Amino acid sequence: MSDWKTIIGLEVHAEMLTETKMFSACPVVDSVTADPNSATDPLSLGMPGTLPVINRRAMEYGMMVGLALNCTIPPFNQFARKNYFYPDLPKGYQISQYDHPLAVDGYVDIELEDGTTKRIRVRRAHMEEDTGKLSHVGGGASLVDYNRSGVPLLEIVTEPDINSSAEAEAYARKLRAILQFLGVNHGDMSKGVLRFEANVSVMHKDDAQFRTRTEIKNLNSIRSMVRAIDAEVERQIALYKRGEMVKPATLGWDEDNGRIIIQRYKERPDEYRYFPEPDLPIVEVSRAWVERVRASLPELPDAKRARYVGLGLTPYDARILTMDRPVAEYYEAMLQTGLDAKTAANWVTGDLFRLMNEAKIDREAVNSLPLTAQAFAQLIQLVERGTINAATARKEVLPILWAEGGDPAQIVEARGLAQVSDPDLIGRVLDEVLAADDDAVRSYLSGKEQAANALFGQAMKQLKGKGDPAVVRQLLTEKLQAKRG
Ligand code: ADP
Ligand code: MG
Repeated sequence: MSDWKTIIGLEVHAEMLTETKMFSACPVVDSVTADPNSATDPLSLGMPGTLPVINRRAMEYGMMVGLALNCTIPPFNQFARKNYFYPDLPKGYQISQYDHPLAVDGYVDIELEDGTTKRIRVRRAHMEEDTGKLSHVGGGASLVDYNRSGVPLLEIVTEPDINSSAEAEAYARKLRAILQFLGVNHGDMSKGVLRFEANVSVMHKDDAQFRTRTEIKNLNSIRSMVRAIDAEVERQIALYKRGEMVKPATLGWDEDNGRIIIQRYKERPDEYRYFPEPDLPIVEVSRAWVERVRASLPELPDAKRARYVGLGLTPYDARILTMDRPVAEYYEAMLQTGLDAKTAANWVTGDLFRLMNEAKIDREAVNSLPLTAQAFAQLIQLVERGTINAATARKEVLPILWAEGGDPAQIVEARGLAQVSDPDLIGRVLDEVLAADDDAVRSYLSGKEQAANALFGQAMKQLKGKGDPAVVRQLLTEKLQAKRG
């Protein structure tokens, strides 16, 4: 393998979360829940005689993405017709951009597993309209839904700077987070609002130039993208090793069987006969407009991460708390209660993520859990103030909050979980424990200090887990020392 290097360029299509379509006042609806063809108008249906009007909000969303990806916004951009026939494209052409895209020459810094960062250059981002959606229903029949037809779509294209499926994954996650933080796309790949295509080739270590690339389409999750890239890299290397060539092709990914499907070989590049869209003006972008949009950008993942590190978080915790916007919102809602940033981060990345992983709940769904950020923060405050100990919080209160929500203080009260710190009571319990376990005491006195842990455990058990661990530990040590003397 080490003789071969992987080369990947990603093309990402992101729908812009506007209320209306790219070129008309037709509403944009949820592709999964809305009835098919319930959000169409003469424009979305490609009727002759209709005229497009540019959605200003969509252009601004596109500019926000361009700026967040460190792109230059050229002084003008221009729409162009991309001509081809397909049943999901009733006009026979898609309005896109070609020579003069909205944004050019940016980059995204991605974080790799080993803690290093890498810069992936963004070649361009251009505005276009989405097509309709075909469903192949079997029996040779297909259904078409034009709700999606004309939804604003931003296409974001990288340079071939990505050298492994892990880097592709890091880029995809980072880009998705940026789009979410900007509020222009909610990042739900299962609904098709964010779609990835991977251009893949391999290079031998002696090569001076890129080899032939293939393009994998319709990757509907990040996991599929990673698996598809790995399979395609393996396929290409195997072909070269057998002395065969890789032919330019459009590929699909069969998720169920974990296999690349060759959809069609490309004998020559596609010819779309692009030409400037005659029904739309050139879009002039004044510097003042760019600066207004720049000023409206919210805090983005990199800035947020740096701020969290400044609050005392480890770079690792800061990174995972800024990977999904809902997680960052949840975490910040906890901090609103005055909780220490580092303490809150430990509970979120430790206990909360463990519970979510066990229940197979996506991190994006964190704000719809019964366990609200406020209740979670209050629980941690109870520990911080010594009302309950951490073990009681974890084992007794958290499972209740997780399952049914509620008020942590009330749960502690109703179940009598408050921590026992009374030294007299703890002292009496310890005396009983020491009297009952001579072996452990003798073994401690003979130098086996771990024997104290067993005694500590027994005392905590007697105290129904509610003992203040610091008090129990200290009194135990004192009593054992006394026996020594
Ligand atoms: P065009 O669509 O104009 O032909 P390119 O072919 O240059 O543009 O690039 C399309 C996408 O393919 C870009 O994301 C680019 O980074 C990527 N790409 C270009 N060459 C290669 C290659 N040899 N291997 C993998 N990806 C490539
Ligand atoms: Mg396109």
